[in-house]
Amino acid sequence: MEELRYKVDLLNAMNQRLSADEKMYRLICDTSSNAFLYANFRNNTVRTLANWCFFFPEVDIREMKDLAKLYSQVEDKYVLPLRDLLFLEKTELNAGSGIIRLKDNRTWVECESAILYDEEGHATDKVIRFKDISKFKNQNDELTYIAYYDVLTGLYNRNYFVRLLADFVRRAENEGTITTVMFVDIDDFRKLNDSLGIVAGDELVQQFGRFLSDFQEENVLVSHFNADIYCIGIYAPEGDRSVRHIYEKIHERIKSPFVLTTGQELIISVSVGVAEYPEAAKTTLELINCAEIVMFKAKNLGKNAIQYFDAPILKEFLQNATIENKLKEAVFSQNFTMNFQPQYHAKDKSLRGMEALVRWRDSDGKMISPAVFIPIAEKNGTIVPLGTWVIEESIKTFAEWKKKYACDVILSLNISAIQYMREEFIDEVLGIIEKYSVSASELELEITESVLIGNFKEITEKMSTLRAHGIRISMDDFGTGYSSLSYLKGLPIDTLKIDKSFVDTSVSDENTRVITESIIFMAKRLGFETVAEGVETNEQFEYLKSIGCDCIQGYFLGKPMPKSEIEGLLERQCGGRKQ
Ligand code: C2E
Ligand code: CA
Ligand code: CA
Repeated sequence: MEELRYKVDLLNAMNQRLSADEKMYRLICDTSSNAFLYANFRNNTVRTLANWCFFFPEVDIREMKDLAKLYSQVEDKYVLPLRDLLFLEKTELNAGSGIIRLKDNRTWVECESAILYDEEGHATDKVIRFKDISKFKNQNDELTYIAYYDVLTGLYNRNYFVRLLADFVRRAENEGTITTVMFVDIDDFRKLNDSLGIVAGDELVQQFGRFLSDFQEENVLVSHFNADIYCIGIYAPEGDRSVRHIYEKIHERIKSPFVLTTGQELIISVSVGVAEYPEAAKTTLELINCAEIVMFKAKNLGKNAIQYFDAPILKEFLQNATIENKLKEAVFSQNFTMNFQPQYHAKDKSLRGMEALVRWRDSDGKMISPAVFIPIAEKNGTIVPLGTWVIEESIKTFAEWKKKYACDVILSLNISAIQYMREEFIDEVLGIIEKYSVSASELELEITESVLIGNFKEITEKMSTLRAHGIRISMDDFGTGYSSLSYLKGLPIDTLKIDKSFVDTSVSDENTRVITESIIFMAKRLGFETVAEGVETNEQFEYLKSIGCDCIQGYFLGKPMPKSEIEGLLERQCGGRKQ
């Protein structure tokens, strides 16, 4: 009796435990977003559990043969894998898994199965879990997309382009043909972006990218590197995929405007650099680099052009890169000196003043011409600290001379556009002349006319402000740029410097004489003082004097010279030292 009660209690306890387990499993099943399929091979039964309706709402599975109904639910190419998954395990020892895609709702489903075996190794029970992985799969596809394509334009991105181009280069090497890279860059894109806003800029990049994508084919890769930079790789260019053909098409397209969704119409120009394997470079990255370098050359030569690779361009670029590096160091350690070139009144050869010209001896002791390093300094921004140093050093020296010699002379300084554009520029100049007690009327700032292009309003306003403080403004290299005499009349300037190129040929060439005389005539009428530059001979001097040029600067009367030599000159010219 006791024993029977004990057994009943035990059974009750076991039942309770079982129903608790059952509850727990049911709860897990019911709250799961997955679906399960359970098969028992011993008694040939199947059951569906949990979220079955989400995956297969129309498929009712009651017995083994119903399983075949599932085939119609998946995309065709997943029918066989699904069949394997459902049935194969009967004989396979290992559990299987796979990914299938449902036909109707295009859901990605991961299927995973687990099997129980008896002692003889026969499968007895099996569970297949169906899990919705669409979100993950789509994200994954997106990641794959981002890895290869540029999201903005849909073109190849830089990395993938480099990989594909490497294949072109390899093929060209094996087959003895060529692979060409066209580096395409929209001119003045930054200005456009700044003035129109990033959204409009992006839209332009997209539209131009879409246009370029038309060139894409088996042997042509079109990519977007970033911002306004595109790169096209061409295997064995010829016919429709020749550089010339593509460039002509681009040129034709950009003649008409790009119309943005805002209705705004944009006309653009592009600069293109072209480099070819194996002529320009032996590796893919070098090839792209070379195309980029010559693209910059096209920009420097005035933009809106195509430039083909040639060795001197690369050499110049490498030299400039070396100078650029050294320049940064030199500015840091102020490795510069000032030279001064005297300017004379034509009528009596008395001293008018001197132009300060910067000199740089690099760390190897080599003299580098300002004509070479100033443009580089302008590009990399070192002109700002360098320019400030030039202004202070020259004015300081000039102030010392003023103390020592009773000379009424002018100091001329060359100023770059970047310096003018700085907000602090005017205050900085005024601060320095005050510091050294130099009066504003003794200072003249030279500006080249190319500086005015593009920043006309801003710079002429600053010129006017400087003049209002009494500082003189001189137009340098007049006649070399885009100059037209008619625009001169509105300019806030005091002095016009006639470029050396006129002086060089004025004696020998009748046409140059006509122009030079017209410039001087017009300048006089407008009330400007004239200074002729680069006067090397007495003949030139006499000619310029005879046509009314006010002042003369050049090797004939004096080369640029260091501070000490100028002091000797001041002593002679200005009747000795002050007491
Ligand atoms: P620039 O302002 O036109 O200066 C005149 C250049 O002509 C100077 O060259 C001068 O040495 C040279 N020169 C003067 N007379 C003669 C002559 O009779 N015959 C020949 N063949 N040349 C003559 P430099 O000193 O090499 O300067 C070149 C350019 O570099 C300058 O042209 C100027 O644009 C720029 N530069 C020089 N110093 C500075 C500076 O401190 N700041 C800025 N922003 N630019 C500077
Ligand atoms: Ca000058
Ligand atoms: Ca000049």
